[in-house]
Amino acid sequence: MAFEGLTERLQNAMRKLRGKGKISEADLRATMREIRLALLEADVNFQVVRQFVKTVEDRAKGSKVLEGLNPSQQIVKIVDEELTKTMGEEAVGLNKAPKIPTIIMMSGLQGAGKTTTVGKLALKLKNEQNARPLLIADDVYRPAAIEQLQTVGQQIDVPVFEMGTDVDPVEIAKQGLKKAQEDHNDYVIIDTAGRLQIDEKLMDELKNIKEAVHPNEILLVIDAMTGQNAVATAEGFDKTLDVTGVVLTKLDGDTRGGAALSIRAVTGKPIKFVGQGEKMTDLDVFHPDRMASRILG
Ligand code: GDP
Repeated sequence: MAFEGLTERLQNAMRKLRGKGKISEADLRATMREIRLALLEADVNFQVVRQFVKTVEDRAKGSKVLEGLNPSQQIVKIVDEELTKTMGEEAVGLNKAPKIPTIIMMSGLQGAGKTTTVGKLALKLKNEQNARPLLIADDVYRPAAIEQLQTVGQQIDVPVFEMGTDVDPVEIAKQGLKKAQEDHNDYVIIDTAGRLQIDEKLMDELKNIKEAVHPNEILLVIDAMTGQNAVATAEGFDKTLDVTGVVLTKLDGDTRGGAALSIRAVTGKPIKFVGQGEKMTDLDVFHPDRMASRILG
């Protein structure tokens, strides 16, 4: 990840305050204006920006920061804390079923990185928890999708359940789950179909799968590089599916950072993981505080 533009602009905005024994309200206002522009340029949702700027400004004014010791350092600290809060405060782990298998349903638009993320997550569970996941190939619209998941499964040595492309995805999900119960898999990860854009048919199908298998976790896979579109997509999926978490992919190629900073605040849903590369090991738990530090540089 490299939000260089945002980091540089935020640093510049706050550097001007450095060394000042006391910060006037006008100084603060000018700084907040620059911070606002930096965030907007990074493609952060404008309502999120407005709320963020207001909170930072109120806190700076309210706590006598402007006249206290090292006011500029204190403002940096407030910005850091509020960035962290905007992104959700704390890392949120996967929901787990009281009884195995934990059912994870992956959703998202085509090309967002869903299938890749299914593999990455399975490998992570395998490596970190000694888990035995089963992957379910539930995208019946693109024959290549099943093959792609099988390739991923072979790569990480995790079994893939498939029934070809002529069976109803709801039935495939049910049968896959049955197989996992028989084989005592502790996780099932369902790779659902994606489309180029949200449409009713896709949403109905996902809703039907959800109702049929009652996933413990519905993860929405979102391409960070699509900025504000990512946020709109997240809202669209969440409205129908009530997702339990977001995986933000391609953060390694995202130069702006708008999606990372907006999604939690706009949807209220936590970013649980971030994809930071094409390799199977490139999936990390999302830590809002670490991300805030990275953004501030
Ligand atoms: P799907 O259509 O949503 O299943 O998407 P795929 O899993 O096929 O991924 C689409 C493309 O994005 C592939 O070329 C992946 O290698 C790539 N990709 C997925 N996640 C990441 C990521 O975190 N970083 C980068 N750089 N590429 C990714």
